[in-house]
Amino acid sequence: MLTKIPAFLLHVVLIFIFISCKPTADTQKTAINIPVRNPVITSLKREAFQDIVDGKPTDLFVLKNTQNAQAMLTNYGGRIVGLWVPDKHGKLFDIVPGFDSIKTYVNLKEPYFGAIIGRFGNRIAKGKFTLDGKEYTLAKNNGPNTLHGGKKGFQNVVWDGKMMGSNSVQFSYLSKDMEEGFPGNLQVHVTYTLKNDNSLEIEYTATTDKKTVINLTNHAYFNLNGEGSGTINNHLLQINADNYTPVDSTLIPLGINKPVKGTPFDFSKPVAIGTKVTDNNEQLKAGKGYDHNFVLNKNTGKGLFKAATVVSDKSGIVMEIFTDQPGLQFYGGNFMRSRNTFKSGAKDDHRTAFCLETQHFPDSPNQPDFPSTVLEPDKKYYTKSVYKFSLR
Ligand code: BGC
Repeated sequence: MLTKIPAFLLHVVLIFIFISCKPTADTQKTAINIPVRNPVITSLKREAFQDIVDGKPTDLFVLKNTQNAQAMLTNYGGRIVGLWVPDKHGKLFDIVPGFDSIKTYVNLKEPYFGAIIGRFGNRIAKGKFTLDGKEYTLAKNNGPNTLHGGKKGFQNVVWDGKMMGSNSVQFSYLSKDMEEGFPGNLQVHVTYTLKNDNSLEIEYTATTDKKTVINLTNHAYFNLNGEGSGTINNHLLQINADNYTPVDSTLIPLGINKPVKGTPFDFSKPVAIGTKVTDNNEQLKAGKGYDHNFVLNKNTGKGLFKAATVVSDKSGIVMEIFTDQPGLQFYGGNFMRSRNTFKSGAKDDHRTAFCLETQHFPDSPNQPDFPSTVLEPDKKYYTKSVYKFSLR
């Protein structure tokens, strides 16, 4: 039909449609007020998150605080979908990259965006570890090693989600005995709370009925200039660590802590992330950039310790991370390859977001000198990390 309409007539019709759709003065004003990096806060559709995966319902959970900040999460992988915090003009910036539907999450080319990571975050060498003389074998999903708990991990399972008030949600999941090769039925609860001081608190608890190993974290990516707003290399990063754990070519720690002083890993004072990322350095080559565990200076395991501060170069947004964990994985988005499209329409281009994952050291089950990751049946696993946002 359409092909039979003469071209000039089609142009007239299109011009007419364009003129009649032109915004009125009022809608133009509203449009100007929409924050630059907040194109999707109102257009994220809950229906797109209401799906069924593995026979279980998924949904979108919205947390709000009195400062107008918002966090959106889904129980598919217990993920942060987006986090909107105000900049110095009160404009909301979405600083956690995410996607607009469960279907997109299920089909992601990189599976960890915003997710709860478990049962064991980061790598276990050669997919094997021994507990009480018994060897356990896990799936190898990262070259010769196991990464982030195995093939499905905790990021691709449906958690039970329960709002705990307007600013908090709890996700629960029972990881069955021998799931992904780990012993013990592990009952996990992860609670996200968006506090009125613009901090996002994450509390992890777990119990097991058999001795097991555990290392839970969250894999949120950040770009403090806003999702999809280009390189993170100009963000200033400070990590309160005098040492890091160097790795082999498969990113397994060598078992020794190395001082950061005099190396590209020295973030003890604020440094722009990209300053040395392309230096000719064996460790940077192994990680294809930064992908290393930092040994936090205060490793008492009691109370929260300020692990890192990141200052954006454009929005003025500052993120501080507090944790009770001994390590912090700084991953600079080296494997991002523009293969996924964020909810804002931007691609996940190389090094346009970073992760700072609070954790026990990688490969701890095989490294007797590292703090223990063993959980006994009569003990309760509890850890807490806080991502606090302010302005400079
Ligand atoms: C790891 C990286 C890995 C990335 C995947 C990070 O936690 O350290 O090596 O490529 O997760 O998103």
